[in-house]
Amino acid sequence: MKPTHIEHLGIAVKSLETAIPYYENVLGLTCYAVEEVPEQKVKTAFFKVGQTKLELLESTDPEGPVGKFIENKGEGVHHVAFAVEGLQETLDFVAEKGIRLIDKQPRKGAEGLNIAFLHPKSTFGVLTELCENPNK
Ligand code: ZN
Repeated sequence: MKPTHIEHLGIAVKSLETAIPYYENVLGLTCYAVEEVPEQKVKTAFFKVGQTKLELLESTDPEGPVGKFIENKGEGVHHVAFAVEGLQETLDFVAEKGIRLIDKQPRKGAEGLNIAFLHPKSTFGVLTELCENPNK
């Protein structure tokens, strides 16, 4: 595998409404998209920092993955997403290396990307997302 860059960092927040002003008024970034991803039970807000993005995640359901994360660990960095080319081949390679996959096959994520997650128990505690831009 050869990631081209860090596509984004996913950051769990309790409320987009209260977190977005920090990123805009203190860090000076611009929120360019807010998108709900019902399959993940989250609402997301995106910021660009150079080639990398920040993805703020607000849970829409306390039983969803981000809701549970916040309950257990509080707000904070939730996952790291690497951009790769050839996502299915990459997943096959990772599985061959004995890493536990949350998604054996790519699925649709925010921003039209194909995504898949690796299990944090196999990745030294870091929930790891791999994403591929299908329009590239
Ligand atoms: Zn993500």
